[in-house]
Order: sequence, then C-alpha cells, then structure tokens
Amino acid sequence: MKRPAGAERLAGDTWYVPALTNSGFVEGLCIDTGPEYEAYADADVDTLVVTHGHADHFAAASELRKSGTRVLAARDDARLIENPEVNIRGMFSWARPGDLMVTKLFKGEPCVVDGLLENLEDPRARAILTSGHTLGHHAVLTKDGVLFSGDALYQKALWDRHPLPYAIDPQLVANSLRAIDALDFEVLVPGHGEPCSHEEASAHIAHHIERITEIENFILDELVREHTTEEAIAAVSRKVGLSDNPAGYWLAVTTVKGYLGDMLGRGDLEFFVRDHSGRWRRTPAT
Ligand SMILES: [Zn+2]
Repeated sequence: MKRPAGAERLAGDTWYVPALTNSGFVEGLCIDTGPEYEAYADADVDTLVVTHGHADHFAAASELRKSGTRVLAARDDARLIENPEVNIRGMFSWARPGDLMVTKLFKGEPCVVDGLLENLEDPRARAILTSGHTLGHHAVLTKDGVLFSGDALYQKALWDRHPLPYAIDPQLVANSLRAIDALDFEVLVPGHGEPCSHEEASAHIAHHIERITEIENFILDELVREHTTEEAIAAVSRKVGLSDNPAGYWLAVTTVKGYLGDMLGRGDLEFFVRDHSGRWRRTPAT
C-alpha cells in the first residue's frame, strides 16, 4: 500500500505527514490533508476523514475525491466543507463580508462529503466528538493508539503565534480537552505542531485550559465596568496581544462572543441594550 510522500511512522500502521497542517495515514485511511495534493497523489487513500470544516484541514479533499477517495465529516461541519460560504457568512451574522475580512482558513475549495463521521465504523480508526473549535469537530484515534486532535488542542508553542485560538465555544473546548486527556492513547498529533506523548499532551491540555480560565477571569475583572460588545472584543484582543488586521479581528469577534455567550449562560454576566448598543457587565454578587 502506497503511503503519502513524506510520511513518518508513529506506531504500528499509523503514519503522519508533517506539514503546515499535519495529516494522518493508517492503511489507506487519511486524517485531514496538508496544503499540497501532490503529497497524496500517488498514495492509496480510500477514505479521508476531515476533523473539522476549516479549509486548512481539507485543502486536498476535492482533488482526492476526484481520484476516488470517500470523504467523511461530521454532520455539523460537512456543510462547511461542501459550501465554505457558510463559514464566511456565519462569521458576519449571515450578511456578506468584504473579502479582506475573511480569513484564508474559511476560503476552501468546496468538496462533496460522502458520509457522516457519526456513522464511522472502521477497524482502522474511530472518531470522537470534540466540539468547541467548531461545532462538529472530531478527534480521530487510530487502532495503534495515535490520536489526531485537529485544532482541539493548541500546544504551548502555538500560543505565541495564536494567543486567542479560534473557538465558537471556549467551555466546550475545555470539556473536549478533558475528554481527550481521558482517552487511551500513546501519541497525540495536533493539526499544527509536533507529535507528543500522552504525558506531554496532558501538560499542553492543562496549559490550554489555564489560558481559557485566565481569559474568563480577565473578562470578569474588566466587566465590573460595563462594556459594549465592541469594547469587550477590543479589551480581550489587547490583553492577549493580537495585531490589528481585518481578518484576525473577525476571528477574534467570534471567539470573544464565544466567551461572552458562555459566561452569560452561566449567569456570570448580564447583557442589555442601551443607546442602541449591546452592553455587558459582571452580574453583581448577591
Ligand atoms: Zn481549525
């Protein structure tokens, strides 16, 4: 069986292709793709499992499918892969954003999804729901104990470049990270970064959860004084040190709203409208 070019063995029959987006390979089943189709052009890939609907994880899906690969994704993310416009409009409340505002991670080559990950029954790997980065995000655990975690976990080194990891729901991210830590695996391969042992992954998970808590605590402190949604986004962006650019800003909008929505749901924050602006403040202690 021909493997993708550049594949490195991790355990048993499980290999990975190091790239800007790491991909996995286990006996003809691929997990995500890197940016270049060429790496997979000569490989025997009967099935491609996409961890989630961001273009950097399915860049070569459409080409692979043309050569006969079956493409699988979760129900909630399949629509993002089949029609990346859903992601683009979703981030702008379904209106049409300008091109400059849209991250390249949302501008994918559309690809038909042949089946749902929820129905995956395959001796080579199983998929585990790890919502939070996207709604239908899944991690994939191969029969050899290698866990491909997509964008569920940001290793410590990645936080320098991405101090506010995209999340539609940070609390779901934290829950998914705890679920990942409880899984039985030997090696974890993140979508971006280096393969690591379970022990190292546990440290990265603890760090990721700590950072989420840190941002929540910052929001609680900051919103002692009322903030408009826009002011809250700016405060968090400033705190973590984001640079000012349109596409990065719009990613931060979703993530900060993710925090605000979670904390509103838990009763930590109040939301109201005054002077036609949405405003947030910390719920007074009772
Ligand atoms: Zn992603």
